[in-house]
Amino acid sequence: MQQLQMVDLKRQYHKIKSEIDTAVLNVIESTAFINGPEVNHFATELATYLGVKHVIPCANGTDALQISLMALGLKPGDEVITASYTYIATVEVVALLRLTPVFADVDADTFTMNIDSVRKAITPKTKAIIPVHLYGQAVNMEPLMALANEHNIPLIEDNAQAIGSAYTFSDGTVKRTGSMGIIGCTSFFPSKNLGGYGDGGAIFTNDDELATTLRMVANHGQNKRYYHEMVGCNSRLDSIQAAILRIKLRHLDAYCDARRAAADYYDNAFKNNPKIVVPYRAPYTHHVFHQYTLQMKGVDRDALQLKLAERNIPSMIYYPVPCHKQNMLKEYGTASLHLPVTDMLQDCVISLPIHTELTEEELSYITTNLLEIIS
Ligand SMILES: *Cc1c(COP(=O)(O)O)cnc(C)c1O
Repeated sequence: MQQLQMVDLKRQYHKIKSEIDTAVLNVIESTAFINGPEVNHFATELATYLGVKHVIPCANGTDALQISLMALGLKPGDEVITASYTYIATVEVVALLRLTPVFADVDADTFTMNIDSVRKAITPKTKAIIPVHLYGQAVNMEPLMALANEHNIPLIEDNAQAIGSAYTFSDGTVKRTGSMGIIGCTSFFPSKNLGGYGDGGAIFTNDDELATTLRMVANHGQNKRYYHEMVGCNSRLDSIQAAILRIKLRHLDAYCDARRAAADYYDNAFKNNPKIVVPYRAPYTHHVFHQYTLQMKGVDRDALQLKLAERNIPSMIYYPVPCHKQNMLKEYGTASLHLPVTDMLQDCVISLPIHTELTEEELSYITTNLLEIIS
């Protein structure tokens, strides 16, 4: 088997090549590179897909989170609760704005925020909670939203890994991830479930006033050109990315289905092995498998990764060091926090190739080899 990829973007591109090439060339021909019509069309189409009123495109997912915190008017010293078990961007923006990151632990089965842990972390200084829909499935939003409402704390959903996923409430209502908090954020980094061919991001809200502020923050604090009401930043999605994302949005559900089918294959191959815990699929969410992440029990993970690599099978540890232990946050003294589930997972997780183009032959090769190595 030739070298496999964690994410195979080339084969995916080749299936939609003529459509993409035409769209990109049209933008170049139009020369409307910044804030061209493609950007507005994409924002409208994504708003419809998500069932939200406003989509504010921006330069990347990290900016989306930063702009959200700025638009909510958070001040240095305000506390923001999030999970330590996430990509660093979620937490970095909090520290960048001189806010105080406060960490909740996660559940071992879902890898997402434990609601009791969030409850314990709330103080009078808590000014926002950022649930992260990690690996492609939703945080348990209903109890989290009830808790946040009780304390009047805004929720900013980090939906960078779960676009296309959804959450089912106990009354049967289904909502897209990213559409339930006061703000939702996402990233169009190429390897994300809805990825561009470069950087990109977006912010979602149903609140008209907040939408205006979010747009201002992303545009140098101005509503009217050259009249700057507040300190903002410069964060835009470019028209070429928007044109590509419009095409890929039409395939998003099929892409999520392809990822789920690959996950089904893996699950079936691994589910009866005592050394492997396959990803749990919480009944309240539609898992779109941004990552396929196993927990290995009693297995030398470094040796496993090396042996997989020898057989051209890549694997990744998302994430080798949880956020609360990163040197970046030294001054907050979070390294000594007791987050037992986060620490446990960090030592045993391993993510396998997952993307829209995996063939049965490749899946069979990966699963057979992994099982052979740990036997
Ligand atoms: C990718 C990602 C981001 C940041 O997105 P960028 O577009 O790379 O800035 C934020 N949060 C999570 C959970 C992510 O996976």
